[in-house]
Amino acid sequence: MTPLVRTHILGYPRIGARRELKFALEAHWRGECSAAQLEDTARGLRAAHWAEQVRSGLAFLTVGDFAYYDHVANHLQWLGCEPARFGFRGDEPELDRYFIMARGLARDGEDPQAGRPALEMTKWFDTNYHYLVPEFTPDSHFRPGSERLFAQVEEARRLSHPVKVVLLGPLTFLWLGKEKADGFSRLDLLPRLLPVYGQILARLAQQGVAWVQLDEPILATELTPAWQAAFEPAYATLTAAGPRLLLASYFAPLAENTRLACQLPVHGLHVDAVRGAGDLPAVLDWLPAHKVLSVGIVNGRNVWRTDLDAAFARLRRAAERRRELWLAPSCSLLHVPVSLEGETALDAEVRGWLAFAREKLNELAALKHALAGHPVDWSAARAQVEARRASPRVHRPVVAARLAALAHDAGRRPSPSAVRRAAQRTRLKLPPLPTTTIGSFPQTPALRRARAAWRRGELAETAYRAAMEGEIAHAIRLQEALGLDVLVHGEPERNDMVEYFAEHLAGFAVTQNGWVQSYGSRCVKPPILYGDVARPSPITLDWTRYAQSLTARPVKGMLTGPATLFQWSFVRDDLPQSTVLLQLAAAVRDEVEDLERAGIAIIQIDEPALREGLPLRAAARADYLAAATRAFRLCAAGVADATQIHTHMCYAEFGDILPAIIALDADVLTVEASRSGMESVRAFARADYPNELGPGVFDVHSPHVPTTEDMVGLLEYAATLFPPERLWVNPDCGLKTRTWEEVEPALAHMVAAARTLRQRLA
Ligand code: GLN
Ligand code: ZN
Repeated sequence: MTPLVRTHILGYPRIGARRELKFALEAHWRGECSAAQLEDTARGLRAAHWAEQVRSGLAFLTVGDFAYYDHVANHLQWLGCEPARFGFRGDEPELDRYFIMARGLARDGEDPQAGRPALEMTKWFDTNYHYLVPEFTPDSHFRPGSERLFAQVEEARRLSHPVKVVLLGPLTFLWLGKEKADGFSRLDLLPRLLPVYGQILARLAQQGVAWVQLDEPILATELTPAWQAAFEPAYATLTAAGPRLLLASYFAPLAENTRLACQLPVHGLHVDAVRGAGDLPAVLDWLPAHKVLSVGIVNGRNVWRTDLDAAFARLRRAAERRRELWLAPSCSLLHVPVSLEGETALDAEVRGWLAFAREKLNELAALKHALAGHPVDWSAARAQVEARRASPRVHRPVVAARLAALAHDAGRRPSPSAVRRAAQRTRLKLPPLPTTTIGSFPQTPALRRARAAWRRGELAETAYRAAMEGEIAHAIRLQEALGLDVLVHGEPERNDMVEYFAEHLAGFAVTQNGWVQSYGSRCVKPPILYGDVARPSPITLDWTRYAQSLTARPVKGMLTGPATLFQWSFVRDDLPQSTVLLQLAAAVRDEVEDLERAGIAIIQIDEPALREGLPLRAAARADYLAAATRAFRLCAAGVADATQIHTHMCYAEFGDILPAIIALDADVLTVEASRSGMESVRAFARADYPNELGPGVFDVHSPHVPTTEDMVGLLEYAATLFPPERLWVNPDCGLKTRTWEEVEPALAHMVAAARTLRQRLA
């Protein structure tokens, strides 16, 4: 029996192929684009994205995935639960309130009440997309609070195509939030929240919406019994409300939640058949026959073409068992770029191996037709998949041979850290509480212009080098004048800490327009790691050597670590992560050794994304941490005792990975700490962190210049928690987003604070 086969998507990139939404948003925030103009742009983007969905033969237009900033923040308005602390009267325009929650309100003048910090932002599961964190108190109430979703449904209905609305499920919505009062659980709010979901669903049914997709990705995490038990009664009330419900989970296996997901009283279930490939047999057994199964067969988190033959074989097996089968990407396409059409400069061979959002829709169409028994010729696609598999650009035997030949102790420094510390102290002669920065300095418009002109071929190589060296010289002079102890060259040559290395390493391609939303209007352009990695020639050596030639103080070499290069790229799917990490590490190790040979005494290997890569499922965490740690150690372990290795991490919860951080065995670790008032220092002290620690003493994301007293206070506190003879003094993170006018006084105050504390502790 041939089942009914349909295709759909869980969500589409909202920012636009040419980042139209980004530019409209930023113009709006600068006051150069009215709300009406912004809404026009947004409407245009939605219409274009829906037209594409119709063109690709999807069964539904997906509505509700659009957001002016973030889809979680949308729900604060749709569910009428904007936090009371914003003090909205309710008559402010909806969009103004939305942007105040997203971006905060600056304190104007003397009135301290006037300032309202933005909602906290945090990573959306294990992606580099950031959502705004809902805030809940025992007084949180809900009500249908916005017409926006219903208006978008009307917009879509004008295209005369069936509509499926996507909403966050009530449990995931609560789970994503934070309790802002003690002694209650946000799960207690569920009875108040469900009736509002019910009202919204009923209204959607009136509008003629046949299906509503409720996203519950928390089913791909370990849930406590209370959260698990809340699903069944919650969905029992929602299912009565009107439209048919498709429950969607993604990003990791359903594992122990598989049975729960299959048995909930809904009309269909979407599963991630890429990351949760192992769930599928059990789902086929347990999902009642009358329910729709949506198989997330096309990878929504990566950019490779789907192997259609393999996908077809899997789907056919599923189709034999179902009356109705839906095909979809594994998750929302929010996490991949819009289209390959903009990639005119991309290496043609690599381009042939890829599928971005638009191309993934075509893959779904091909699979659907084939499943329905129509003849579909995908031989060209097959040839590309095979070419990639066999390409000598992907498989470079020298790389594998090098890894195989690594000595078993290639990841171990010759001496324990205490011995290294003594050697480094003799060599470096730094004062107690040494001062340093995290690497980048302000990226001024002139600097960006010079870099862009050189890229376009409008600025000659010599002029470009002179411009960068001018920036470096300025940074070195300034750091000397400010009295910093360990200097940096300032990273003027880098647009991005991952893309810069990707451009110089074999095995990576970079795109022109492969933008993916990171938060709000901010987009990133992840490089594409397609093949075995090697470093053909030194990358940072000349810039670092030049900087060191200008000063007698140590200049810290600045590299990006393997886990971060991995996490912030689209990576190959044909090798285990641990192997790719080691390849990256071997390339970084080459750079470390070249820097050391050139006399650079301190080398920092940044790993801000190490924590972000932690798998959602506990069962996979130990292997990941072991692989990431092993890779970092391989980068660092080739140097002599007297060479000091730093690493840096920021904006993540380190508490649950402290043993892995200790195992990195970096001589110095700098971490973001100021916003939490040095709380992380306490955690490091409790874990007996054995090496040196530089807790950030000022927030680099705020234009506010911290005072010397602020920083003395933080340092004094840190010194009560952690042995002061192993403390460093530095900002939370790199300074590239600040201006020199902000950075100069901030660093002057930081150096003064370190000096004050040195005297007090002497
Ligand atoms: N060295 C980088 C910088 O200073 C580190 C950035 C980061 O932690 N994300 O910009
Ligand atoms: Zn950082």
